[in-house]
Amino acid sequence: MYGQIKQDLIAALDEIRQSGLYKHERVLSSSQGAMISVQGGAAVLNFCANNYLGLASHPTVIDAAQKAMQRWGYGLSSVRFICGTQEGHKQLEEKMSRFLQTEDTILYAACFDANGGVFEPFMGADTCILTDALNHASIIDGIRLAKAQRLIYQHADMADLEKKLQESKSSRYRLIATDGVFSMDGDIAPLQAICDLADRYDALVMVDDSHATGFLGRTGRGSIEHCRVMGRVDLITTTFGKALGGAMGGCVSGRKEMIEYLRQKSRPYLFSNSLSPMVVGATLAVLELLSANTELRDRLESNTLYFRQRMTAMGFDIKPGIHPIVPIMLYDEKLAHTMADEMLKKGVYVIGFSYPVVPKGMARIRVQVSAAHSKEHLDTAVDAFQSVGKQLGVIR
Ligand SMILES: *Cc1c(COP(=O)(O)O)cnc(C)c1O
Repeated sequence: MYGQIKQDLIAALDEIRQSGLYKHERVLSSSQGAMISVQGGAAVLNFCANNYLGLASHPTVIDAAQKAMQRWGYGLSSVRFICGTQEGHKQLEEKMSRFLQTEDTILYAACFDANGGVFEPFMGADTCILTDALNHASIIDGIRLAKAQRLIYQHADMADLEKKLQESKSSRYRLIATDGVFSMDGDIAPLQAICDLADRYDALVMVDDSHATGFLGRTGRGSIEHCRVMGRVDLITTTFGKALGGAMGGCVSGRKEMIEYLRQKSRPYLFSNSLSPMVVGATLAVLELLSANTELRDRLESNTLYFRQRMTAMGFDIKPGIHPIVPIMLYDEKLAHTMADEMLKKGVYVIGFSYPVVPKGMARIRVQVSAAHSKEHLDTAVDAFQSVGKQLGVIR
């Protein structure tokens, strides 16, 4: 009987609309790339995808996906431990371990699942997880599934983390969990300091490098390479759905026994279908591509530097940093959304972020630079920002 709940949902949805928090989905009529077509509109420059290396529609990646589908079929219709493991799954796990310089890797359907399954098997009631206040929703949910005590430390605050490590000394194991890069500000976790504290207080470290794997660090190994902590992090989770091709899939990579134990106990691994052969084949090709040379991450780095420098020179208030996530601070919620609308009219697709995604009074436009952007694309976007910025009184 669909009764009371229908009325409640209508009211709740109305409230979401009234408060301006309703999420509308813009429909694309093209593949993902630097230039996209929006249904019912013209082509626009895309500055809001996680397509950091431009691999989402890269010919090498599409070719590898097609070849893998021809050779290995479309799907497995099975979980890994029944009859869902192909040679490709083992190869991808090995290749990912080599890429991240870890001992072993386990695949998941998404990084959301990896984070959902990485805590609960190890972290029982006599343990403690120390988690950054700004960690991704999937880490928060993964921790909720574990019986461990949860201590939230202030964002990137090492003094607070240390205090919480002192408070939790009686726990059987402690695990510090952090994003490698935080998606709203593009800031990088202080992984050196975190690993030092972990050594001092006998704690494990887990890093979710979804916004870093493939491009951050000198050879694109992620925030772990950028912060020079490769080999010191016990568990790394990451996604294949951002820089590494953008389709879907994720993994946990790290200590041999921990990965082996996850294969026995991790529920999103045990009770969910194995990764599609085409995602496996394409991700293998991506890792090959990124291991051969650093051309794509180098281009992303210089694109990011160029965009950040030009925007700063024009007087925009951007959060300093090196990440291709470039938050253009506007503070005012309405201004952020008006500015994004005006940018779209000029053919540049960017998104305004406001409360509750970011704190009240901290509204912004979050630009994401890609290796797929040409110099002309970047200049077009910067020029549009200049003209809209002046029009709205954000810059002079
Ligand atoms: C995007 C993201 C995820 C989710 O990855 P999916 O593979 O899309 O499920 C998890 N953690 C972080 C930090 C992310 O940015």
